[in-house]
Amino acid sequence: MAIKTKQEYIESLKQLKPTVYMFGEKIENPVDNPRIFAGINTTGATYELAEMEDYRDMITAISPFTGELVNRFTLPAQSIEDLVMRVKLNRILGGYTGTCFQRCTGLDCLGALSIVTHNIDRKYETHYYDRFIDFLKYMQTNDLTGNAGVTDMKGDRSLSPHEQEDKDLYLRVVDKNKEGIIVRGAKAHQTGSLSSHEIIVLPTRALREGNEDYALAFAIPADTKGLIHIVGRSSLDTRELEGVDCGNIRYSKYCPTLIFNDVFVPRERVFMCGEVEFAGEAVGRFSAYHRQSHGGCKAGKIDAMTGAAQIMAEYNGTNKVGHIREKIVDMIHRAETLYGCSLAASYEGKKEPSGTYFIDPVLANASKIHEGKEMAEAGRLLVDVAGGYVANLPSDKDLKNPEIGPLIQKYFKGVADVPTMNRIKMFRLVEKMVLESADTISDIHGGGSAAAHRLTIYRESDINYKKRCAKRLAGIEE
Ligand SMILES: Cc1cc2nc3c(=O)[nH]c(=O)nc-3n(C[C@H](O)[C@H](O)[C@H](O)COP(=O)(O)OP(=O)(O)OC[C@H]3O[C@@H](n4cnc5c(N)ncnc54)[C@H](O)[C@@H]3O)c2cc1C
Repeated sequence: MAIKTKQEYIESLKQLKPTVYMFGEKIENPVDNPRIFAGINTTGATYELAEMEDYRDMITAISPFTGELVNRFTLPAQSIEDLVMRVKLNRILGGYTGTCFQRCTGLDCLGALSIVTHNIDRKYETHYYDRFIDFLKYMQTNDLTGNAGVTDMKGDRSLSPHEQEDKDLYLRVVDKNKEGIIVRGAKAHQTGSLSSHEIIVLPTRALREGNEDYALAFAIPADTKGLIHIVGRSSLDTRELEGVDCGNIRYSKYCPTLIFNDVFVPRERVFMCGEVEFAGEAVGRFSAYHRQSHGGCKAGKIDAMTGAAQIMAEYNGTNKVGHIREKIVDMIHRAETLYGCSLAASYEGKKEPSGTYFIDPVLANASKIHEGKEMAEAGRLLVDVAGGYVANLPSDKDLKNPEIGPLIQKYFKGVADVPTMNRIKMFRLVEKMVLESADTISDIHGGGSAAAHRLTIYRESDINYKKRCAKRLAGIEE
């Protein structure tokens, strides 16, 4: 069964028995927890679209690995068209959910591994690529979601992994046997780890000799013994737990910390083990794909934000005011620039020796730098247009209170012909899109911090070509 329905996806997660803690308590059935389910529901949109006639052809493709129709979120790009389609799809999903739908990072790992395992094998005659392809087929055939276990806790940032006082601050191999390896450590900010069937681990940074134990890539089920998901508190959690969403669809993001407490990884699931010189390539490929991906989904999120700004203006009676229109245009052009940069990164993609297509990293990183600043600006514009009640809205319970409910209905009215409740619902949505920390902070840090984007741009840009341009124009001959 290569394509799952949303319901089948949810049921398949119920079969897993992960170890989960949230707010100090053990959560036995994460799928039934309203906070966690809001995240699962969002990833569910990537399955739901495959059920919808309008999007089915876009979100599915024939896999050359299985020969079957698969969800694109399990398919490393095999062509420029695949790269482009991903950005388009992300834009649709960003607009559909208004938040991060948490299935991209897994695909970014699959893309990176489909290139890097092949490159390691070429150098060392290892068999990582074949193992990886077996895993990929498993992901595709069962239409699974993967989580990206990339960011280590990192301890003292000025020290490399083996120099840390506590050697576990970067995930590492602590034992090996014929059957596999035992790993210990933790991964930070694991977007949708409980919405995922598989945890796909890559190194977090480039590594030098002496750090062989940390040069690791592998995949394990999300409920593997010894794995502990600790769901953090992020702003607006109470919406799901207390029911204060005024009827908004429950889509949201969560990013647990994932502890690997001496976890066994079977040999056939190990895709890098000790090849330090490939750690940088693995994380670099992953990050570049992820930055391309953000250009699509965040442009889609701005679509939803722009829609909300326009509607709030209509509900408030300000839609014909000049500065309001200008602000809406300022939101639209930010989305288009992000999208354009991401599409360009895709169109400029190239085929790697393994057959996978890789994007243009300079364009992808330029898109991500832009996102880091401009998503915040889009949020600021939206709040400006919507008004201060983005912050101070009475709760659902106040609305249901027989004494004050009717008063709220009376005083929260905007233009006469729009039901008050619509205006309240839209305020709630704006609050979510602008202030949901798990999503908005990812505009800055998701896929690496801004300094990492700049480093990549400088490293990957042809500075000599730019120098030649300047010297020729200046009349300097060499
Ligand atoms: C919402 C969200 C979702 C995320 N999802 C995922 C996910 O699904 N999977 C995953 O693996 N990761 C995920 N991340 C992690 C993300 O990639 C990291 O947050 C990011 O790489 C920054 O790492 P950090 O949080 O440890 O901050 P730090 O690394 O501590 O960075 C803080 C600042 O210090 C600077 N800095 C740090 N070390 C150095 C150094 N050695 N030299 C110079 N400057 C330095 C950084 O540039 C930055 O400006 C997510 C993050 C967020 C916020």
